[in-house]
Amino acid sequence: MLSKYFINLLLLVSVTFVGGHILKDISNRKSKTMLFKVLSGLFCGLFGVLMIIYSVPIKEANTLVDLRLYAVMIASLVGGIIPSIISGIVIILYRIIFYESHIAVLVAAVQIASFIVLYEIIDRLTKDHKKRWVYKTITSMAVVLVTYYFLLCKIENVFMILLQYAFMLVVAGILEFILIDYVKTTNELYKKYKNDSTKDFLTGLTNTRQFDIKLNMAMERVQINKEKLSCLMVDIDFFKKINDTYGHLIGDLVLKELAEVLKKSIRSSDIIARVGGEEFCALLFGCNREQSFEIALNINKAVQKHQFPIGDNQFIQITVSVGLSIYPDMTDNLETLKELADTALYTAKRSGRNRVCDHDRCMTSEDIL
Ligand code: GH3
Ligand code: MG
Ligand code: MG
Repeated sequence: MLSKYFINLLLLVSVTFVGGHILKDISNRKSKTMLFKVLSGLFCGLFGVLMIIYSVPIKEANTLVDLRLYAVMIASLVGGIIPSIISGIVIILYRIIFYESHIAVLVAAVQIASFIVLYEIIDRLTKDHKKRWVYKTITSMAVVLVTYYFLLCKIENVFMILLQYAFMLVVAGILEFILIDYVKTTNELYKKYKNDSTKDFLTGLTNTRQFDIKLNMAMERVQINKEKLSCLMVDIDFFKKINDTYGHLIGDLVLKELAEVLKKSIRSSDIIARVGGEEFCALLFGCNREQSFEIALNINKAVQKHQFPIGDNQFIQITVSVGLSIYPDMTDNLETLKELADTALYTAKRSGRNRVCDHDRCMTSEDIL
């Protein structure tokens, strides 16, 4: 009996770590999709079946007990009610196909239906994951023990059996509580470090280090596809003045807002990054010189028109200068694409700011009116 129980605990440990490992790279957006919910429900259902296969025999009552309730609990923790229902269906189907006793199937069905309802109520009552786990363990233990009592009440030492089962459930519940807390914390830290190492902390845009990686990937892509790649270096005009006049915090606010304006001005397939203090770089795929100028001038115009909030219902306006270079029109060496955009930006600054320049032409947004 102890060895079977030990196998159940090991199953719990391995499924928690394997599941945690899979979940660590799944974004919040993906975890809300129906596909994710269905797959996690099936995965937990199969886990529940495995628990049943390795049920712990209780000789005195000629019966088996298992930890399948934790499979449904994990399903509910990972994705809410849909995975819990799917895991419950998988477990009940297994019972129907492989167990002859109608009573046993009925008891299993009542238990699982109760778990699903209880877990949904608890999820609505509290958002705290630790409290949820504790309440779910206690309530599902109550369901399991009450249903088993009705199943075994004719047996003499029923309370002894229930006590043994309760002990098994409590030990497994505490173990799983510790494991889930550990896996959750390490996954959150992993996601945070991953995000911090690729995203700019202030604007949430791609940071310089990640931009260099993306630029290299973009270079490979355009060389293979024989596509054009435009590089737009965007720099705020007289930004030092904004810091000096309104303070560094307002300067930060302007940078954040500008990041939003820039994101809206390019296509989602393009790349935008913060590559310096008040310098941003956009990479556009498949645009010729005219199209690149058009997008750059649109950025220029969008920024010029935008009202940047600086608190207390006050707004300021800023302008940006843009340096433009295009592969392969202006250089067949992708390494120098950024340098050329930098040089063009310098030209835009020198020739009056609030404009877009490439190696031999400068335009302002009035030119496209
Ligand atoms: P120019 O038109 O020639 O680009 O003038 P500028 O004042 O924008 O350029 P300059 O290079 O002289 O100054 C850039 C300023 O950007 C100086 C620095 O304080 C500010 N800056 C850089 N990074 C940050 C940041 O993260 N937050 C804030 N608030 N300011 C920053
Ligand atoms: Mg500047
Ligand atoms: Mg600058």
